[in-house]
Amino acid sequence: MCVAKPVAMGTPDKIGGGRIIGPEAVLCGGFAIMSLPRTLGELRHSPFSEAQLRSRRVKDELRDNLMAKLRQGGPIFPGIVGYDDTVVPQIINAILSRHNFILLGLRGQAKSRILRALTTLLDAHMPYVAGCEIHDNPYSPICRPCRDSVAKQGDETPIAYLTQEQRYVEKLATPDVTIADLIGDIDPIKAARGGHELGSEMTVHYGLLPRANRGIFAINELPDLAGKIQVGLFNIMQEGDVQIKGYPIRLPLDVALVFSANPEDYTARGKIITPLKDRIGSEIRTHYPASIEEGIAITTQEAWTKRDGYKLHIPKYVQEVIERIAFAAREDKKVDKRSGVSQRLPISCMENVISNAERRAIRHEEKLVVPRIGDVYAAMPAITGKLELEYEGEMKGADHVGRELIRTAIAKTYDGYFKGTDMNQVVQWFDLGGEIQLADTAGAGEALQALRGIQGLMEKLVKLNVGPKESAESQVSAAEFVLEGLHAHKRIGRNEERLFSAGEKPQKVAEKPFEREDAPFRGRRPFN
Ligand SMILES: [Zn+2]
Repeated sequence: MCVAKPVAMGTPDKIGGGRIIGPEAVLCGGFAIMSLPRTLGELRHSPFSEAQLRSRRVKDELRDNLMAKLRQGGPIFPGIVGYDDTVVPQIINAILSRHNFILLGLRGQAKSRILRALTTLLDAHMPYVAGCEIHDNPYSPICRPCRDSVAKQGDETPIAYLTQEQRYVEKLATPDVTIADLIGDIDPIKAARGGHELGSEMTVHYGLLPRANRGIFAINELPDLAGKIQVGLFNIMQEGDVQIKGYPIRLPLDVALVFSANPEDYTARGKIITPLKDRIGSEIRTHYPASIEEGIAITTQEAWTKRDGYKLHIPKYVQEVIERIAFAAREDKKVDKRSGVSQRLPISCMENVISNAERRAIRHEEKLVVPRIGDVYAAMPAITGKLELEYEGEMKGADHVGRELIRTAIAKTYDGYFKGTDMNQVVQWFDLGGEIQLADTAGAGEALQALRGIQGLMEKLVKLNVGPKESAESQVSAAEFVLEGLHAHKRIGRNEERLFSAGEKPQKVAEKPFEREDAPFRGRRPFN
């Protein structure tokens, strides 16, 4: 049974994360569901009163709700990892300043996700004149049909509501976006049917921007928008005026405009018309995770790891190797810096690594899925497609570049656990002619038997917190990681069939530190 119960204004709304500004709510199974005014007359005597709503513009609403969230404490944008000290404070300032703003960053830096998360700062319910294509404010409608309807029906004018998500409109800018798409067009059929003159307000077919009225309008890759369209946008931001096919129609729209762009495109001369740039209040730079730990946190959150059936254990070193592939790629001169290396690389890679381990577990009827380094190599299809290569990289081929990146990632991860550990005994075993094949499809029981034959290997696994009591799957994965680490440092050899052996040794090499220094991408921008 549902019980009607008054809910105070500003009570957190359990549905949308927004705040209730309605008169009463129905508590139903722990959820607050509003019973909302349905006519303009009812609306006037509700918390959506004229005094409350008439002049409440979107940016005021975002600001009010943001301030309430700040007072409440806790994260403003849950699920956005690694931006707490950099991007998030700047976004908060932009919203408090009631700015239109742009996020500048390379691909895979959660720009779209942040823009979408802005909807959580909108009211849970927004009343508008029912049936209005541009969601007119009932107290000050701007379109002709609504003005007529309110004049005629008065307090009986029906009211409808939009949720937070319904107030977000997103458009990927491409050079072929037209004024008609964005702003609108004269619809001759509408004119003929209604007996209106062309150019009358009644004949407009609205574009995306008017349809985003009283909401958030996001344009991704802004520099790809033709100059003419940018002028149209500027006019909206400046005057609220739009011109449709030469007919001046005044539409004082109320929209929070947000954008995203690749920084190089945005700053390139002539890509953005200056007056538009001038009207964008804040320019906020996004960045890739600053540390391996942050990268792992994002990948863990985004990758599909909770699968049915098998128990899964992902060793920390496998997570690190996967993350370091992206870090290494972002520094590699064979990879195009301008397009960047998306965080989707480690996410897709992780999913493929788990799948390869799953496939092995199914084949050998193992109960526990434990990814190995061999699975990372098998995940190449999730890596190569996400790298835009420079000329040198193209010459070597995506597969070759991908393999080098994995090897770099393994070497650095290995150093994190085993730097200074004496591995001579293991290396000697191979130097004396020992060989072991570890196919990525090899079952754990059999592989463990073979690995135990390598003198000095298994006791080194304490550094990975893997002892003889661990599952065979975990022990094999850990031991294979050590061998892959030694191979990445060229201390032992390994061929395409995953046969580890002594390999070639031009001269006696001490365990040489890997050349790349751990200096991840720093997108942090000084406050000034
Ligand atoms: Zn209207």
